[in-house]
Amino acid sequence: MPENDSGTNFIENIIINDLKSGKVKNIITRFPPEPNGRLHIGHAKAACLNFMLAKKFGGKCNLRFDDTNPVKEDADFCEQILYDIRWLGFEPDGVFYASDYFDYMRDCAVLLINKGLAYVDESTPDEIKLSRGTLTEPGKNSKFRDRPIKESLKLFEKMQSGEVPDGGMVLRAKIDMASPNMNMRDPVIYRVLHAPHHRTGTKWNMYPMYDFAHPLEDAVEHVTHSCCTMEFEDHRPLYDWVIDNCDITDKPHQYEFARLNLTDTVMSKRYLKQLVDMKAVDGWDDPRMPTLSGLRRRGVPAHAIVAFCTEVGIAKAVGTVDAAQLNDCIRDELNATAKRYMVAPDPVELDIVNMDKSDKEIIEVTEGGEYTVPHRTFIDPEVNSTPVVTRKMTLSPRLYINREDFSYNPPKGYHRLVPGGLARLKNSFIIRCTGYDTDKAGNVTKVYAERTDEVKAKGVIQWIDRDSAVDIKINELDAIVPDGEGEFVNRINAASKKTVSAKAEAAVKELPVGEGVQFFRIGYFARDAKDEDSFNRVVELKSSWNK
Ligand code: ATP
Ligand code: MG
Repeated sequence: MPENDSGTNFIENIIINDLKSGKVKNIITRFPPEPNGRLHIGHAKAACLNFMLAKKFGGKCNLRFDDTNPVKEDADFCEQILYDIRWLGFEPDGVFYASDYFDYMRDCAVLLINKGLAYVDESTPDEIKLSRGTLTEPGKNSKFRDRPIKESLKLFEKMQSGEVPDGGMVLRAKIDMASPNMNMRDPVIYRVLHAPHHRTGTKWNMYPMYDFAHPLEDAVEHVTHSCCTMEFEDHRPLYDWVIDNCDITDKPHQYEFARLNLTDTVMSKRYLKQLVDMKAVDGWDDPRMPTLSGLRRRGVPAHAIVAFCTEVGIAKAVGTVDAAQLNDCIRDELNATAKRYMVAPDPVELDIVNMDKSDKEIIEVTEGGEYTVPHRTFIDPEVNSTPVVTRKMTLSPRLYINREDFSYNPPKGYHRLVPGGLARLKNSFIIRCTGYDTDKAGNVTKVYAERTDEVKAKGVIQWIDRDSAVDIKINELDAIVPDGEGEFVNRINAASKKTVSAKAEAAVKELPVGEGVQFFRIGYFARDAKDEDSFNRVVELKSSWNK
């Protein structure tokens, strides 16, 4: 337990008190995704909370797949989720599946029926809905509510044996149809569903509902602090009801925190799935997606995501975080760790006239080593350096420079190359511009310069050796669904990916997929996993975050 008595958020404070009072000896948390899609940055917030609580207080955190709805879930999503969690830097203490507890859940349901606390209802789904009442009016008891326990037991068995069609019957908890909390008005806890499950196959013809299953899943795993998002606050009385009435001695407790919302970002899996299904994006891992796989493909380092989740913090007040804050965390991380490369999206030829055509300078660039990031949270505090690497660049008299690095009509304050002026070639010597050619429209077609022995120049410009230059594509990425009025499908930004071609120094060709690097003065980029000639923009160089 940390020495400092106060935690960094209200859940930590609760845990500190529980440990102090002896109410809890070892804390156990869990991260419980439903495997019906890939994880997104919102899930990262929940995962960071649960795994970091366990780490901070010497407890355990499980990854539990909440696979109680076989229609939308599959094994592939489970695999992807585990991969994403490990990518973030977390190793679950256990990997569990709610479906492993289906027998236990059925037994708990039978226990409730035997206690007179659950009954099989044969009303139609519409009848059940209508009889629930409203926020201002109490609901009406079902005519099946007081049927004999024996009858419910028999029908419950039928629900499972496969004789009952989907929607034909449900098992309901018998609580209070007049409760001001709608969730307590005899909620459905089991439904008939003839759907094969990716783990249990065709064994079950009925499946438990979330509100019944979740507390039991927590109980089986001896979870002490079950953290979920605010929309479950109204479900907590039902959570406690299930725990109390299913004779659970080690009682888990539910605590709610605000979910993460980001500007210009659709987050719900339902919408993300829709984007994938309608092919508005190139799969769940499209680099514009807020999924962890999309962020990874874009070149976002996992550490930046953890730093962001920590910086955003845990509270109860729901709000929307500026996506620029996430970009800031990514930029801080890459600024400290990324290697720099020279790239020209709009190249112009530059010839050095006083060098021999066959002359070649070999320039060594060394990067990497220790680094720090200001507001960085380390999962692993030992990882604060990158490997030191040296690469060789050849500089011949035939170069490309960026069009914006030369001007024959320079605006005030321009510090790059101008006719007659000096500029340093990055990592190398200083040149003086001796002339230039233009086309009829006045566009520069070639620049001439001489190598000098000067030691001081105001401007530094990047250059690319023409003989060894490589062609790449650059993807400039923007929000796929920006904020705005109306249905999200009508807000999809078809122009959110712009591709331009560029000349790059030869070493760019060797960059591994997904590694974020800086293209000098252009932005941070990473090689795409699917189109290896393309580099996705991870983040711009300049911050737009208004703290
Ligand atoms: P979605 O609405 O995107 O489908 P979900 O809540 O249905 O999300 P689950 O797989 O059930 O997705 O979520 C797993 C865990 O992640 C839950 O504890 C949930 O509360 C949490 N979670 C989901 N979205 C967010 C978010 N935006 N911010 C914080 N936590 C989240
Ligand atoms: Mg869900």
